Amino acid sequence: MKHIYDMVIIGGGPAGYTAALYAARAGFDTVLLERLSAGGQMALTGDIDNYPGFEEGVDGFTLGMKMQQGAERFGAKTEYAEVEGVDFSGQIKKIKTNAGDFSAKTVVIASGANPRELGIAKEKELVGRGVHYCAHCDGRFYKDKTVIVVGGGNSAAADALYLSRLAKKVYLVHRRDTLRATKIYHEPLMKAENVEFLWNSTVSDFAAENRVTGVILKNVNTGNETEIDCDGVFVSIGRKPATEFLGGAVELDQSGYIVADESTKTSVPGVFAAGDVRTKSLRQVVTAVADGAATVHHAEEYLAEIE
Ligand code: NAP
Repeated sequence: MKHIYDMVIIGGGPAGYTAALYAARAGFDTVLLERLSAGGQMALTGDIDNYPGFEEGVDGFTLGMKMQQGAERFGAKTEYAEVEGVDFSGQIKKIKTNAGDFSAKTVVIASGANPRELGIAKEKELVGRGVHYCAHCDGRFYKDKTVIVVGGGNSAAADALYLSRLAKKVYLVHRRDTLRATKIYHEPLMKAENVEFLWNSTVSDFAAENRVTGVILKNVNTGNETEIDCDGVFVSIGRKPATEFLGGAVELDQSGYIVADESTKTSVPGVFAAGDVRTKSLRQVVTAVADGAATVHHAEEYLAEIE
């Protein structure tokens, strides 16, 4: 007979590994399914300064590994598998992966969110050849070079600041004339002598041979196009939730995030959503780990009801 876990957790970022820690510590028979390695998006972040307890900051990869080790200390297992589909129609939930099927009484979806793409021609073929989605991962290739950061939110502002310390010149391209980013970023960005703002502009095309040599910018007010030479482009325009594999099994909002409040309960009893993948106003490591803990609390209540 197929093994039935108390809890299957999909995704090994901070939400997933916190759920794994709490679940295993509570005595749940728990497995966490992860595609690549621990940490999720956090593992791609260089310095995390706003996670309490690390007075000097901590790099995301290290924090991810520590979270995994902390959960495994209590017996949580990690299986490296990509989830391809789910069936939540019965009380025993089924998860189909490229490494076989898993069955569980409760499921935690902690699959996070991935970088949003510009969606323009040549973008996919130029990834790694001048087009990037993670300044902290790939910024070091652009020491003393010219780069463009696209976006106006906190990520774009943080990326532009980070790159200004490495690159010779940073253009920040934003489709409006004010930043969405919080005020804390405004002053240092304005003060950085090598950062130039290109307002009311979008990237309409890439200039490239084998790799990026520039971008074509379109002014959204006039429609005029200009070419700017650069060595690399960092796309930092938000994220899209990793929920496609669910195939409509739980309710999503119009942007594709799983509808769930602080209880992390989804539209399906026994299925919980934790971290960046659920509807929430602040997506941070600290809010993701809070979700992981809340999930197990409510899963315990659910199990007590059905058993
Ligand atoms: P975000 O806040 O959603 O900002 C996305 C930015 O990209 C916006 O400025 C948006 O323009 C622009 N944009 C969206 N689609 C675009 C397109 N197709 N073409 C050009 N521009 C486009 O996303 P985020 O900056 O990645 O942040 C995500 C979450 O993480 C937020 O909650 C944020 O506060 C948080 N975060 C926090 C920190 C921190 O506190 N240190 C750091 C990073 C991220 P409009 O402004 O015109 O909509």
